[in-house]
Amino acid sequence: MLALFHALKDSNQVFPVFIFDIQILSKLKNKKDRRIEFILRSLAEIKKTLNENGSDLIVEMGDPELLIPKLITEYKCNSLYINRDYEKYAQDRDQTISKILLNKKVTTFAFKDQVLFESDEVLTQSNNPYTVFTPYKNNHLKRLNEQGIELYNCENHKDNFAKFTSKALPTLGELGFEKTNLEDLGLPTGTSGGKSLLEKFYKNIKNYSTNRNFPSIRGVSYLSVHNRFGTLSIRHLAKLAIEADNDGASTWLSELIWRDFYFQIIANFPQVSEKKSFKSQFENLKFENDEKKFEAWKNGLTGFPIIDAAMKQINQTGYMHNRLRMIVSSFLVKDLLIDWRWGEKYFEDNLIDFDFSANNGGWQWAASTGCDSQPYFRIFNPVLQSEKFDKDGSFIKKYIPQLAPLSVKRDSSTMGIF
Ligand SMILES: Cc1cc2nc3c(=O)[nH]c(=O)nc-3n(C[C@H](O)[C@H](O)[C@H](O)COP(=O)(O)OP(=O)(O)OC[C@H]3O[C@@H](n4cnc5c(N)ncnc54)[C@H](O)[C@@H]3O)c2cc1C
Repeated sequence: MLALFHALKDSNQVFPVFIFDIQILSKLKNKKDRRIEFILRSLAEIKKTLNENGSDLIVEMGDPELLIPKLITEYKCNSLYINRDYEKYAQDRDQTISKILLNKKVTTFAFKDQVLFESDEVLTQSNNPYTVFTPYKNNHLKRLNEQGIELYNCENHKDNFAKFTSKALPTLGELGFEKTNLEDLGLPTGTSGGKSLLEKFYKNIKNYSTNRNFPSIRGVSYLSVHNRFGTLSIRHLAKLAIEADNDGASTWLSELIWRDFYFQIIANFPQVSEKKSFKSQFENLKFENDEKKFEAWKNGLTGFPIIDAAMKQINQTGYMHNRLRMIVSSFLVKDLLIDWRWGEKYFEDNLIDFDFSANNGGWQWAASTGCDSQPYFRIFNPVLQSEKFDKDGSFIKKYIPQLAPLSVKRDSSTMGIF
C-alpha cells in the first residue's frame, strides 16, 4: 500500500504489477494450496477496481529478476516502487533486482508497509534489539503514542494510474494449482473480505481478552491471512485498536505488536532464518523423531481429542486457533519428543496465514529454544487445556464427528468461523 501511495503521489503513469514468484511457487508441493487461491481472488478484486478506473493490473508468473527489468523496459518506466519484505530470500531477490535496474538507470524506492515499526526503530536504551517482549512492547507503544499513526489513501491519487489494458489473470490451473475448499470455509478474500471480517470483530473487540482463548467461539479476528498478504493495512488495524480504548482492544494491539516483535527478531538475529535455535545452547538437543508418532500428530490420530481436533482444523481449513497452536506445538516437541523444525515445516506447508517470522517465533517459543520463550520445564497438559478452554467439548466435537452424539446445542451465531 505505501509503495503504491508514493508511486501515485510521485507519478501520473503508474503501472501496478504482481508477480507470482516461481521460486516460491515451485516449493509448494500441495497443489491444493489455499494461499494461491486466496491471492488470486484478492488480485481479481484489485484488477476489477482498476479496470473500473480505466487502468489495469499486470500479473505474471516467473522469475522476478527477469520479469521486472523486462516490464520496466516494456512500459518505459524510470522507477520501481516496492514494499520492503523481511524474509531473507525476498530481501536478497529485491536487492538483486534493484542492482539490475540501477545499471539501466532505474531507481528502486522501497517502503515500510508490512509492519508498524521496523527492526531498527524500536531498540533498547543501549541501541540493541530487544529479545524480551514486554519491554519491547512498552517502548513500541510509547513510540506509537508519540508518533501517531498515519493512514495513506490511494483513492485521492487514483487518476495517476496509467490508462492501459493488460491480459486476463492466470487461472489456478495455469499457475499449476487446483481449486481448494476456500469458498466453503467462510473466509472472505480481498480487501472487501478483510473489511467485512474486521467489522464483525470490531463490534466485539472489547471482549477479546476474555474470549480469545476459546477455539469454539468467535473471540478472535481471523485476520491473520489478511495481515499476511497485506489485504488490510496494519496501520489501520492498530489505529482502530487504539481508538477503541478498552481492555480487549489493548490486548489485541499487543498481538499486533507480537507480530512486529517477531519480524524484528528475524531481521536482527539471522541465525533463526538458518533454521537454528535462537538460543544457541539448545541447538543440539537430541530428539527421538519417531516418524510414526509424527504421522499420527499430522493426521490427528494421537488419541488426545484436543490435539486431534486441532490438527483436523488445520488440515481441513488451513487455520488453527492460537490456543491450539500452542497446545499442539508443545505436545509435538515435549510429549512426542519431535524436533520443533518438523512441526514448523508442517505449519509452513499447511497454514493459510503462514508467516516465517510468526511461525518460527511460535515454534521456538513452544520448544523453549526461542527468545522470551516458555521455560523448558513448562509443558501444556492437553487434558487440562481441553477442560479449561473447551469445557463442553464443542470444538472437539466439531472436528471429531465420532463424538457428535455427545454434542451440546449451541447458538451458531457465536461460534468460531472454523
Ligand atoms: C506454533 C505457532 C505457530 C504460529 N504460526 C503463525 C503463522 O505462521 N502466521 C501467523 O500470522 N501467526 C502465527 N502464529 C501466531 C497466532 O497463532 C496467529 O497469528 C493467530 O492465531 C491468528 O489468528 P487471528 O488472526 O484470529 O488472531 P488474533 O488473535 O485476532 O490476533 C490479531 C493479529 O495479531 C497477529 N498475531 C496474533 N498472535 C500473534 C503471535 N503470537 N505472533 C505474531 N503475530 C501474532 C496476527 O497477525 C493476527 O491476525 C503462530 C503461533 C504459534 C504458537
